[in-house]
Amino acid sequence: MNLQTHIIKGFHWPRHYTSAVAIGWHVDGEAGPIGSDPKNKEHLAARSMGQYGVTTAMPRILDIHDDLDIPASFFIPAYLVKEYPELTKRISEASVSHEIAYHGYMHENVFMVTDKEEDDLFDLQVTIMQEELGRKCSGWSAPGWGVRENTLQNMFKHNFLYDSSLMEYDRPYILCYDEKKMVELPISMVLDDYEIYGASLYPHGGGVNATAEEGYQIYREEFDGLRAYGGLFTTTFHPCILGRPGRLMMLKRLLAYMKSFEDVWFATYEEIATYVKEEFIR
Ligand SMILES: [Zn+2]
Repeated sequence: MNLQTHIIKGFHWPRHYTSAVAIGWHVDGEAGPIGSDPKNKEHLAARSMGQYGVTTAMPRILDIHDDLDIPASFFIPAYLVKEYPELTKRISEASVSHEIAYHGYMHENVFMVTDKEEDDLFDLQVTIMQEELGRKCSGWSAPGWGVRENTLQNMFKHNFLYDSSLMEYDRPYILCYDEKKMVELPISMVLDDYEIYGASLYPHGGGVNATAEEGYQIYREEFDGLRAYGGLFTTTFHPCILGRPGRLMMLKRLLAYMKSFEDVWFATYEEIATYVKEEFIR
């Protein structure tokens, strides 16, 4: 493997900022259950659980971002972008400038496909996003955190500005593959709502179903810590999970708390990766 990861020496946030927040939503919709098992195309209840995130939760989530003037990055499987034109229209018409980014075609975990199938899926999602959005996206976050060498090769082939799936550091860093470089905006399982509220119908039901308050505590602690260490707070929030009404009330309180600090930069993943590339990649 020719991959090397580089921490950025002398890293600093722009202007007066000392840390950053990038709110990432993984809008999996019905691509979540279908991607994990094609038989779920017939599973109307599992599909409807994903659809709740798209049709019921997303308008409320966009309202919260509007109310607090906080941008977000929406990682959306290409299948959903094609099936729900209203979804991307609402995102692009919001008063805050949001980002739409890659998240597979049908939310495939790359460890479930061959290299050739993965290559074809990358070509397909890039083509569909270009057709539906009129532009290429800047980056991706891996469905199910499936990333391997062939995945990186595809990201470099399509000139992705950033990846947001790895976890070695807690501020932006650089992925080097042969002579090519890409920005990594690290994620954390601590900030993946599935780990706290992951009660799900598929693959087999069960899981956890914590109170909204437990999530608030974990997210606030991590935000306070990352702010103290000058880190990057990225989230993996799912509309069908964190978009339940009680949790949205908690989210609004959490975002308002984080927004009260003037030294925290709220930006999309694309804005942060652009800053990092221009400032630190030679
Ligand atoms: Zn996802």
